[in-house]
Amino acid sequence: MRQLIDGIHRFQSGVFGPQRELFKRLVDGQAPDALFITCSDSRIAPNLITQTNPGDLFIVRNAGNLIPPWGQESGAAATIEYALECLDVSDVIVCGHTHCGAMSAILHPEKVAKLPAMKQWLTYAEGTRRVLAKHYPGLDADALQDVCVEENVMCQIENLRTHPSVMAKLAARELTLHAWVYDIETGAVHAFSDERGQFVPVAEAGHGVAEQRARLRGKDI
Ligand SMILES: [Zn+2]
Repeated sequence: MRQLIDGIHRFQSGVFGPQRELFKRLVDGQAPDALFITCSDSRIAPNLITQTNPGDLFIVRNAGNLIPPWGQESGAAATIEYALECLDVSDVIVCGHTHCGAMSAILHPEKVAKLPAMKQWLTYAEGTRRVLAKHYPGLDADALQDVCVEENVMCQIENLRTHPSVMAKLAARELTLHAWVYDIETGAVHAFSDERGQFVPVAEAGHGVAEQRARLRGKDI
């Protein structure tokens, strides 16, 4: 805790003061550009990796960056609804990451055998597990973990599309969905490219995930 308290002192003296104008503006309200859905993992820092400020990102975090389909769970749904209906965000990013413990648990369910809440939560990634079982037999463990992270982001994008506020905004072409993976080792961010049918460096990825996917590492479903 000492580190946190010291950090607050440094923030107040070295950051808040010099950026007083920014924080003053935030008193009047927020107008974030994007809803950023990512893992709770402590190694992922959304504002740091995107070099954004307070007020720029509306954030949902949970183990595995999962998005329960509409009607099955209220927490994420309420946040998504608020971001789209009240804050009018124009972009939703689902950002997975390498070395994700939740993805590891999908591949090795025995890891959560004694964690009933986590076991239940990971059922929202059952689609991911089934895609892997059906389409990626025989991959070695490291490759399977990487594919799991990517396929899970794509599956969660599909879950996201079941939310009425998302459907309505997509139909009106007022919303763009983005599938990202953050690489803990290199700091790189890859995004799914519709044109290329795979994850590519984010600067080359074009304008989000437009179609209801058809991708499996070069294979057609
Ligand atoms: Zn994670």
